[in-house]
Amino acid sequence: MTGNITKRIQEIQETIPSTVRLIAVTKTVSTEAIREAYEAGIRDFGENKIQEALAKQEKLQDLNDITWHFLGHLQSNKVKQALLHFHWIHTCDRVKIAQRLNRLLGELEITPPNLLLQVKPLKDPNKYGWEIPELLEALPTLNEYQHLKIKGLMTILPLNQSTEETQAAFTKVRDLGQKINIQKDLSFTIEELSMGMSADYPIAIEAGATMIRLGRTIFGERPH
Ligand SMILES: *Cc1c(COP(=O)(O)O)cnc(C)c1O
Repeated sequence: MTGNITKRIQEIQETIPSTVRLIAVTKTVSTEAIREAYEAGIRDFGENKIQEALAKQEKLQDLNDITWHFLGHLQSNKVKQALLHFHWIHTCDRVKIAQRLNRLLGELEITPPNLLLQVKPLKDPNKYGWEIPELLEALPTLNEYQHLKIKGLMTILPLNQSTEETQAAFTKVRDLGQKINIQKDLSFTIEELSMGMSADYPIAIEAGATMIRLGRTIFGERPH
């Protein structure tokens, strides 16, 4: 598998606009493979389990210009670790966790990571995230959490959608961002849209994604 990583990254880079940030998703991927991706020019890496990420970060300390993205579900007891060890957190998905992030940031003297709000544009019982009306309702509350550096929206679509459904869902997320940005009295704006994975990233880019999160397309299939 390794050896192909460089080639795959080059192929992807050739097809995506240079303004789109390519995040290499490295869950289950070895630090050797991560080094190869780094050599190929990747500086953004995403993990979804804190413990796995910390172990890898420890081994990769010499690569000190990596930007680490947390992509996993945020459990209350892991929030502090996520704040301390990641530059971006993509998965703020409920008011309770936003409140906790805000409180911890008030206590810890650290540069706050950039935060994305995870939304569910389609009904999907298996995925975390705000439904769109819920998020709109939560905005005044989120706005009070002054330590949060809210930068954008993130979404993971359910599997097996048609191209049309996928397009419509990503467009809903983009429109939500615009709707948030015309609201008065909000102290944050939606500048980033983290959407698109191996199965759907070209559609996401067309719909306005600014960040795509690719695992299998770069590193091959993950072990089950
Ligand atoms: C695993 C994962 C990805 C990457 O998925 P691929 O299908 O391997 O590209 C992207 N985003 C999140 C949140 C993930 O957990």
